[in-house]
Amino acid sequence: MTKRIRVGILGATGAVGQSFIRLLHDHPWFELADLAASERSAGKRYADAARWIGGGAVPESLRDVRVVAAEPGAVQADVVFSALDSGVAGEIEMAFARAGKLVLSNARNYRMEPDVPLVIPEVNPGHLGVLERQRAARGFPGTGGIVTNANCSTIVAVLALAPLHQRFGIEKMFVATMQAVSGAGYPGVPSLDILGNVIPHISGEEEKVETESLKMLGGYRDGAFVPASIAVTAHCNRVPVENGHTVCLSLGFRVRATPEQVAETLRAWEGDALARGLPTSPARPVIVTDEPDRPQPRRDVDAGRGMSVVVGRVRRDPLLDVKLVAMGHNTVRGAAGASVLNAELLARMGRLPGSEGGAFP
Ligand code: NAP
Repeated sequence: MTKRIRVGILGATGAVGQSFIRLLHDHPWFELADLAASERSAGKRYADAARWIGGGAVPESLRDVRVVAAEPGAVQADVVFSALDSGVAGEIEMAFARAGKLVLSNARNYRMEPDVPLVIPEVNPGHLGVLERQRAARGFPGTGGIVTNANCSTIVAVLALAPLHQRFGIEKMFVATMQAVSGAGYPGVPSLDILGNVIPHISGEEEKVETESLKMLGGYRDGAFVPASIAVTAHCNRVPVENGHTVCLSLGFRVRATPEQVAETLRAWEGDALARGLPTSPARPVIVTDEPDRPQPRRDVDAGRGMSVVVGRVRRDPLLDVKLVAMGHNTVRGAAGASVLNAELLARMGRLPGSEGGAFP
Protein backbone atom coordinates (compact mmCIF):
# COMPACT_ATOMS: atom_id res chain seq x y z
CA MET A 1 0.00 0.00 0.00
CA THR A 2 1.25 3.51 -0.87
CA LYS A 3 2.46 5.47 2.12
CA ARG A 4 0.08 8.28 3.02
CA ILE A 5 1.37 11.87 2.81
CA ARG A 6 1.77 13.61 6.16
CA VAL A 7 -0.14 16.89 6.34
CA GLY A 8 -0.79 19.58 8.94
CA ILE A 9 -3.55 22.13 9.54
CA LEU A 10 -2.74 25.74 10.47
CA GLY A 11 -5.74 27.28 12.24
CA ALA A 12 -7.03 23.80 13.12
CA THR A 13 -9.26 25.09 15.92
CA GLY A 14 -11.43 27.52 13.87
CA ALA A 15 -14.59 26.96 11.81
CA VAL A 16 -12.71 26.07 8.61
CA GLY A 17 -10.07 24.19 10.60
CA GLN A 18 -12.80 21.91 11.94
CA SER A 19 -14.07 21.35 8.42
CA PHE A 20 -10.51 20.24 7.53
CA ILE A 21 -10.53 17.86 10.49
CA ARG A 22 -13.74 16.25 9.23
CA LEU A 23 -12.28 15.76 5.76
CA LEU A 24 -8.78 14.67 6.75
CA HIS A 25 -9.02 12.53 9.90
CA ASP A 26 -9.63 9.39 7.85
CA HIS A 27 -8.39 10.46 4.42
CA PRO A 28 -7.09 7.66 2.15
CA TRP A 29 -4.08 9.65 0.83
CA PHE A 30 -3.24 12.02 3.70
CA GLU A 31 -2.25 11.40 7.30
CA LEU A 32 -2.99 14.19 9.74
CA ALA A 33 0.31 14.83 11.52
CA ASP A 34 0.05 18.34 13.01
CA LEU A 35 -2.75 20.50 14.39
CA ALA A 36 -1.53 24.08 14.76
CA ALA A 37 -3.20 27.26 16.01
CA SER A 38 -2.36 30.40 17.99
CA GLU A 39 -0.30 30.64 21.19
CA ARG A 40 -3.67 30.64 23.02
CA SER A 41 -4.25 27.04 21.92
CA ALA A 42 -0.68 25.70 21.68
CA GLY A 43 0.08 22.99 24.25
CA LYS A 44 -3.62 22.18 24.89
CA ARG A 45 -5.38 18.95 23.93
CA TYR A 46 -7.27 19.52 20.68
CA ALA A 47 -10.58 18.70 22.37
CA ASP A 48 -9.92 21.45 24.92
CA ALA A 49 -8.54 24.02 22.48
CA ALA A 50 -11.27 23.80 19.83
CA ARG A 51 -14.81 24.86 20.53
CA TRP A 52 -16.37 22.18 18.31
CA ILE A 53 -19.20 23.58 16.21
CA GLY A 54 -21.61 21.88 13.84
CA GLY A 55 -22.63 18.24 14.06
CA GLY A 56 -20.85 15.21 15.49
CA ALA A 57 -17.92 15.19 17.87
CA VAL A 58 -14.15 15.63 17.66
CA PRO A 59 -12.81 12.40 16.07
CA GLU A 60 -11.65 10.08 18.86
CA SER A 61 -8.15 9.76 17.37
CA LEU A 62 -7.59 13.53 17.61
CA ARG A 63 -9.10 14.41 20.98
CA ASP A 64 -5.82 14.10 22.90
CA VAL A 65 -3.48 15.41 20.22
CA ARG A 66 -1.52 18.43 21.49
CA VAL A 67 -2.02 21.59 19.45
CA VAL A 68 1.28 23.17 18.35
CA ALA A 69 2.13 26.77 17.50
CA ALA A 70 1.72 27.72 13.82
CA GLU A 71 5.48 28.00 13.25
CA PRO A 72 7.48 26.03 10.67
CA GLY A 73 9.79 24.61 13.35
CA ALA A 74 6.87 23.20 15.36
CA VAL A 75 5.17 21.48 12.41
CA GLN A 76 6.58 18.22 11.00
CA ALA A 77 4.54 17.83 7.80
CA ASP A 78 5.82 19.25 4.50
CA VAL A 79 2.27 19.95 3.32
CA VAL A 80 0.06 22.29 5.34
CA PHE A 81 -3.52 23.39 4.91
CA SER A 82 -4.14 26.93 6.12
CA ALA A 83 -7.39 27.98 7.79
CA LEU A 84 -5.71 30.92 9.48
CA ASP A 85 -7.37 34.19 10.21
CA SER A 86 -6.36 36.53 7.36
CA GLY A 87 -4.93 39.01 9.89
CA VAL A 88 -2.08 36.58 10.55
CA ALA A 89 -2.12 34.30 7.49
CA GLY A 90 0.12 36.51 5.33
CA GLU A 91 3.15 36.33 7.57
CA ILE A 92 2.70 32.75 8.77
CA GLU A 93 2.04 31.22 5.33
CA MET A 94 5.07 33.01 3.90
CA ALA A 95 7.24 31.67 6.74
CA PHE A 96 6.11 28.11 5.94
CA ALA A 97 6.76 28.51 2.19
CA ARG A 98 10.22 29.94 2.96
CA ALA A 99 10.86 26.87 5.12
CA GLY A 100 10.20 24.64 2.06
CA LYS A 101 6.63 23.66 2.97
CA LEU A 102 3.78 23.65 0.49
CA VAL A 103 0.87 25.73 1.82
CA LEU A 104 -2.70 25.20 0.60
CA SER A 105 -4.44 28.33 1.76
CA ASN A 106 -8.00 29.47 2.35
CA ALA A 107 -6.98 32.96 3.34
CA ARG A 108 -7.35 35.93 1.05
CA ASN A 109 -3.81 37.31 1.46
CA TYR A 110 -2.05 35.87 -1.64
CA ARG A 111 -4.96 34.91 -3.92
CA MET A 112 -4.54 37.75 -6.40
CA GLU A 113 -0.71 37.75 -6.54
CA PRO A 114 0.52 37.34 -10.13
CA ASP A 115 2.60 34.26 -9.27
CA VAL A 116 0.10 32.50 -6.96
CA PRO A 117 -2.36 29.96 -8.37
CA LEU A 118 -6.02 30.40 -7.39
CA VAL A 119 -7.50 27.04 -8.30
CA ILE A 120 -10.69 25.01 -8.55
CA PRO A 121 -9.50 21.61 -9.87
CA GLU A 122 -12.51 21.12 -12.19
CA VAL A 123 -12.11 24.62 -13.63
CA ASN A 124 -8.48 25.77 -13.96
CA PRO A 125 -5.94 23.08 -12.99
CA GLY A 126 -3.54 24.52 -15.60
CA HIS A 127 -2.97 27.55 -13.35
CA LEU A 128 -0.81 25.34 -11.12
CA GLY A 129 1.85 25.70 -13.81
CA VAL A 130 2.84 29.00 -12.18
CA LEU A 131 4.30 27.24 -9.11
CA GLU A 132 7.79 26.85 -10.59
CA ARG A 133 7.89 30.55 -11.43
CA GLN A 134 6.69 31.37 -7.90
CA ARG A 135 9.46 29.26 -6.36
CA ALA A 136 12.15 30.78 -8.55
CA ALA A 137 10.95 34.37 -8.07
CA ARG A 138 10.49 34.12 -4.32
CA GLY A 139 13.40 31.81 -3.59
CA PHE A 140 11.28 29.15 -1.87
CA PRO A 141 13.46 26.08 -1.29
CA GLY A 142 12.52 22.55 -2.42
CA THR A 143 8.80 22.06 -2.70
CA GLY A 144 7.96 25.29 -0.81
CA GLY A 145 5.10 27.32 -2.24
CA ILE A 146 1.62 28.77 -1.84
CA VAL A 147 -1.51 27.50 -3.62
CA THR A 148 -4.80 29.21 -2.84
CA ASN A 149 -8.50 28.59 -3.22
CA ALA A 150 -11.01 31.38 -3.65
CA ASN A 151 -13.40 32.99 -1.29
CA CYS A 152 -16.43 30.79 -0.48
CA SER A 153 -19.13 32.64 -2.45
CA THR A 154 -16.81 32.97 -5.46
CA ILE A 155 -16.17 29.21 -5.59
CA VAL A 156 -19.92 28.51 -5.59
CA ALA A 157 -20.49 31.05 -8.36
CA VAL A 158 -17.53 29.96 -10.50
CA LEU A 159 -18.53 26.28 -10.51
CA ALA A 160 -21.82 27.32 -12.11
CA LEU A 161 -20.18 29.90 -14.39
CA ALA A 162 -17.25 27.88 -15.76
CA PRO A 163 -19.21 25.47 -17.98
CA LEU A 164 -21.26 28.37 -19.36
CA HIS A 165 -18.20 30.54 -19.97
CA GLN A 166 -16.49 27.64 -21.75
CA ARG A 167 -19.43 27.10 -24.10
CA PHE A 168 -21.14 30.48 -24.58
CA GLY A 169 -18.58 33.05 -23.42
CA ILE A 170 -19.97 35.20 -20.59
CA GLU A 171 -19.89 38.89 -21.46
CA LYS A 172 -21.69 40.39 -18.47
CA MET A 173 -22.75 39.10 -15.10
CA PHE A 174 -24.75 40.39 -12.20
CA VAL A 175 -24.13 38.53 -8.93
CA ALA A 176 -26.15 38.77 -5.69
CA THR A 177 -25.19 36.56 -2.74
CA MET A 178 -27.00 35.45 0.42
CA GLN A 179 -24.23 34.16 2.66
CA ALA A 180 -24.46 31.92 5.71
CA VAL A 181 -23.24 33.00 9.13
CA SER A 182 -20.66 30.18 9.32
CA GLY A 183 -18.79 32.08 6.61
CA ALA A 184 -17.80 34.60 9.27
CA GLY A 185 -16.05 31.99 11.47
CA TYR A 186 -16.73 31.50 15.18
CA PRO A 187 -18.21 33.34 17.09
CA GLY A 188 -18.68 35.43 13.95
CA VAL A 189 -21.71 37.67 13.57
CA PRO A 190 -23.46 38.45 16.91
CA SER A 191 -26.84 36.69 17.07
CA LEU A 192 -28.66 39.96 17.89
CA ASP A 193 -27.32 41.44 14.64
CA ILE A 194 -28.32 38.57 12.37
CA LEU A 195 -31.42 36.80 13.76
CA GLY A 196 -34.49 37.89 11.80
CA ASN A 197 -32.27 40.22 9.78
CA VAL A 198 -30.22 40.69 6.60
CA ILE A 199 -26.93 42.59 6.65
CA PRO A 200 -26.19 44.09 3.23
CA HIS A 201 -22.45 44.33 3.76
CA ILE A 202 -19.60 41.81 4.11
CA SER A 203 -16.29 43.59 4.25
CA GLY A 204 -14.25 43.17 1.07
CA GLU A 205 -16.54 40.43 -0.26
CA GLU A 206 -17.87 42.16 -3.36
CA GLU A 207 -14.36 42.99 -4.58
CA LYS A 208 -13.32 39.34 -4.01
CA VAL A 209 -16.24 38.03 -6.07
CA GLU A 210 -15.52 40.55 -8.83
CA THR A 211 -11.77 39.88 -9.08
CA GLU A 212 -11.21 36.24 -8.02
CA SER A 213 -13.89 34.97 -10.40
CA LEU A 214 -12.17 36.61 -13.38
CA LYS A 215 -8.76 35.19 -12.41
CA MET A 216 -10.15 31.62 -12.26
CA LEU A 217 -12.27 31.92 -15.40
CA GLY A 218 -9.32 33.42 -17.25
CA GLY A 219 -6.31 31.73 -18.78
CA TYR A 220 -2.67 31.12 -17.92
CA ARG A 221 -0.44 31.82 -20.90
CA ASP A 222 3.31 32.36 -21.26
CA GLY A 223 3.77 32.39 -17.51
CA ALA A 224 1.06 34.98 -16.81
CA PHE A 225 -2.58 34.97 -15.76
CA VAL A 226 -4.97 36.57 -18.24
CA PRO A 227 -8.22 37.46 -16.43
CA ALA A 228 -11.49 36.68 -18.22
CA SER A 229 -12.92 39.69 -19.98
CA ILE A 230 -16.33 39.83 -18.27
CA ALA A 231 -18.16 42.92 -16.99
CA VAL A 232 -19.18 42.00 -13.44
CA THR A 233 -21.01 43.57 -10.52
CA ALA A 234 -21.66 41.91 -7.15
CA HIS A 235 -23.92 42.52 -4.14
CA CYS A 236 -23.08 40.48 -1.03
CA ASN A 237 -25.45 39.95 1.92
CA ARG A 238 -25.18 38.07 5.21
CA VAL A 239 -28.37 36.14 6.02
CA PRO A 240 -29.50 34.07 9.03
CA VAL A 241 -28.61 30.67 7.51
CA GLU A 242 -26.19 28.31 9.27
CA ASN A 243 -24.38 26.77 6.28
CA GLY A 244 -24.69 27.27 2.52
CA HIS A 245 -24.11 30.35 0.39
CA THR A 246 -26.80 31.12 -2.22
CA VAL A 247 -25.76 33.07 -5.30
CA CYS A 248 -28.25 34.58 -7.79
CA LEU A 249 -26.68 35.10 -11.22
CA SER A 250 -27.93 37.03 -14.26
CA LEU A 251 -25.76 36.36 -17.31
CA GLY A 252 -25.25 37.90 -20.73
CA PHE A 253 -23.45 35.70 -23.28
CA ARG A 254 -21.37 36.34 -26.40
CA VAL A 255 -23.09 33.39 -28.10
CA ARG A 256 -26.87 33.54 -27.63
CA ALA A 257 -28.08 30.76 -25.27
CA THR A 258 -31.51 29.67 -24.13
CA PRO A 259 -32.32 28.57 -20.56
CA GLU A 260 -32.69 25.00 -21.91
CA GLN A 261 -29.19 25.07 -23.43
CA VAL A 262 -27.78 26.51 -20.20
CA ALA A 263 -29.42 23.79 -18.07
CA GLU A 264 -28.28 21.09 -20.47
CA THR A 265 -24.68 22.43 -20.48
CA LEU A 266 -24.57 22.48 -16.68
CA ARG A 267 -26.06 18.97 -16.46
CA ALA A 268 -23.51 17.52 -18.88
CA TRP A 269 -20.46 19.21 -17.32
CA GLU A 270 -18.02 16.94 -15.52
CA GLY A 271 -15.18 19.42 -15.06
CA ASP A 272 -11.58 18.96 -16.16
CA ALA A 273 -10.67 15.29 -16.58
CA LEU A 274 -7.69 15.73 -14.21
CA ALA A 275 -10.10 16.41 -11.34
CA ARG A 276 -12.40 13.43 -11.81
CA GLY A 277 -12.43 10.57 -9.33
CA LEU A 278 -10.22 12.18 -6.67
CA PRO A 279 -11.07 11.04 -3.13
CA THR A 280 -12.93 14.29 -2.37
CA SER A 281 -14.40 14.84 -5.87
CA PRO A 282 -18.19 14.70 -5.94
CA ALA A 283 -19.79 12.47 -8.58
CA ARG A 284 -21.05 15.69 -10.17
CA PRO A 285 -19.51 19.12 -9.47
CA VAL A 286 -22.79 20.78 -10.52
CA ILE A 287 -26.24 19.30 -9.92
CA VAL A 288 -29.18 20.87 -11.74
CA THR A 289 -32.63 20.77 -10.18
CA ASP A 290 -35.93 21.50 -11.94
CA GLU A 291 -37.83 22.00 -8.67
CA PRO A 292 -39.33 25.52 -8.76
CA ASP A 293 -38.27 26.34 -5.19
CA ARG A 294 -34.75 24.86 -5.05
CA PRO A 295 -31.85 25.04 -4.29
CA GLN A 296 -32.34 25.71 -0.59
CA PRO A 297 -29.45 25.65 1.93
CA ARG A 298 -31.35 23.54 4.47
CA ARG A 299 -32.27 20.87 1.93
CA ASP A 300 -29.37 20.91 -0.52
CA VAL A 301 -26.24 22.00 1.36
CA ASP A 302 -24.86 18.47 1.79
CA ALA A 303 -25.24 17.46 -1.88
CA GLY A 304 -22.16 15.52 -3.00
CA ARG A 305 -20.98 15.43 0.66
CA GLY A 306 -20.94 19.24 0.58
CA MET A 307 -18.76 19.30 -2.58
CA SER A 308 -21.45 19.78 -5.25
CA VAL A 309 -22.98 23.10 -6.20
CA VAL A 310 -26.74 22.84 -6.75
CA VAL A 311 -28.17 25.01 -9.52
CA GLY A 312 -31.84 25.72 -10.05
CA ARG A 313 -34.34 28.24 -11.40
CA VAL A 314 -32.62 28.43 -14.79
CA ARG A 315 -34.80 30.88 -16.70
CA ARG A 316 -34.84 33.74 -19.17
CA ASP A 317 -33.51 37.06 -17.95
CA PRO A 318 -35.39 40.02 -19.49
CA LEU A 319 -32.36 42.29 -19.00
CA LEU A 320 -29.47 39.99 -19.94
CA ASP A 321 -29.90 36.44 -21.38
CA VAL A 322 -30.39 33.84 -18.63
CA LYS A 323 -30.63 33.89 -14.84
CA LEU A 324 -30.20 31.09 -12.29
CA VAL A 325 -29.57 30.34 -8.61
CA ALA A 326 -26.49 28.43 -7.37
CA MET A 327 -25.94 27.19 -3.80
CA GLY A 328 -23.02 25.40 -2.15
CA HIS A 329 -21.54 24.54 1.24
CA ASN A 330 -19.31 27.45 2.26
CA THR A 331 -17.02 25.67 4.73
CA VAL A 332 -16.75 22.46 2.63
CA ARG A 333 -16.73 23.27 -1.14
CA GLY A 334 -16.12 26.94 -0.33
CA ALA A 335 -13.18 26.39 2.02
CA ALA A 336 -11.63 23.19 3.46
CA GLY A 337 -12.93 20.85 0.73
CA ALA A 338 -11.55 23.23 -1.90
CA SER A 339 -8.04 23.05 -0.42
CA VAL A 340 -8.19 19.28 0.06
CA LEU A 341 -9.26 18.84 -3.57
CA ASN A 342 -6.36 21.08 -4.67
CA ALA A 343 -3.96 18.90 -2.66
CA GLU A 344 -5.41 15.71 -4.15
CA LEU A 345 -4.98 17.14 -7.64
CA LEU A 346 -1.33 18.04 -6.88
CA ALA A 347 -0.79 14.52 -5.50
CA ARG A 348 -2.24 12.98 -8.66
CA MET A 349 0.13 15.18 -10.71
CA GLY A 350 3.05 14.00 -8.54
CA ARG A 351 3.64 17.59 -7.43
CA LEU A 352 2.94 17.24 -3.71
CA PRO A 353 5.94 16.34 -1.53
CA GLY A 354 5.69 12.56 -1.06
CA SER A 355 3.58 11.96 -4.18
CA GLU A 356 6.36 11.54 -6.74
CA GLY A 357 6.35 8.59 -9.15
CA GLY A 358 2.62 8.35 -9.86
CA ALA A 359 1.79 6.94 -6.43
CA PHE A 360 -1.66 8.58 -6.34
CA PRO A 361 -3.27 8.02 -9.77
P1 NAP B 1 -11.97 31.33 12.70
O1 NAP B 1 -13.07 30.41 13.09
O2 NAP B 1 -11.90 32.68 13.33
O3 NAP B 1 -10.55 30.55 12.96
C1 NAP B 1 -9.32 31.21 12.86
C2 NAP B 1 -8.17 30.25 13.15
O4 NAP B 1 -6.93 31.01 13.08
C3 NAP B 1 -8.19 29.61 14.55
O5 NAP B 1 -7.71 28.28 14.48
C4 NAP B 1 -7.20 30.47 15.34
O6 NAP B 1 -6.58 29.76 16.41
C5 NAP B 1 -6.17 30.77 14.27
N1 NAP B 1 -5.38 31.96 14.64
C6 NAP B 1 -5.83 33.20 14.94
N2 NAP B 1 -4.78 34.00 15.26
C7 NAP B 1 -3.65 33.24 15.15
C8 NAP B 1 -2.26 33.49 15.35
N3 NAP B 1 -1.81 34.69 15.73
N4 NAP B 1 -1.38 32.48 15.14
C9 NAP B 1 -1.82 31.26 14.73
N5 NAP B 1 -3.14 30.95 14.56
C10 NAP B 1 -4.04 31.94 14.75
O7 NAP B 1 -11.99 31.60 11.11
P2 NAP B 1 -12.58 30.68 9.92
O8 NAP B 1 -13.95 31.05 9.58
O9 NAP B 1 -12.24 29.26 10.24
O10 NAP B 1 -11.69 31.19 8.68
C11 NAP B 1 -10.32 30.81 8.50
C12 NAP B 1 -9.80 31.40 7.21
O11 NAP B 1 -10.54 30.84 6.10
C13 NAP B 1 -9.98 32.92 7.10
O12 NAP B 1 -8.85 33.47 6.44
C14 NAP B 1 -11.26 33.06 6.28
O13 NAP B 1 -11.33 34.29 5.61
C15 NAP B 1 -11.13 31.88 5.34
N6 NAP B 1 -12.39 31.36 4.77
C16 NAP B 1 -13.45 31.08 5.56
C17 NAP B 1 -14.62 30.54 4.99
C18 NAP B 1 -15.82 30.19 5.80
O14 NAP B 1 -16.83 29.79 5.20
N7 NAP B 1 -15.78 30.27 7.13
C19 NAP B 1 -14.67 30.30 3.63
C20 NAP B 1 -13.56 30.59 2.84
C21 NAP B 1 -12.43 31.12 3.43
P3 NAP B 1 -7.05 29.95 17.97
O15 NAP B 1 -8.29 29.09 18.14
O16 NAP B 1 -5.89 29.41 18.73
O17 NAP B 1 -7.32 31.40 18.17
